[in-house]
Amino acid sequence: MKIQWKCSLCGYQFEGKATPPDKCPSCKETCTFIDATCYIPECEGPEGRDRRI
Ligand SMILES: [Zn+2]
Repeated sequence: MKIQWKCSLCGYQFEGKATPPDKCPSCKETCTFIDATCYIPECEGPEGRDRRI
């Protein structure tokens, strides 16, 4: 399944595979990616992102 990754540095969100890339596509930094995928039915928003994150 696709994962919604969010860069902890710049907040850039993108859809990717189960393993995030080494570097952020936006800020080019080696950062920690937050899994922003929405897993609960209550937050079925656009693109399945969790709006609480
Ligand atoms: Zn970034």
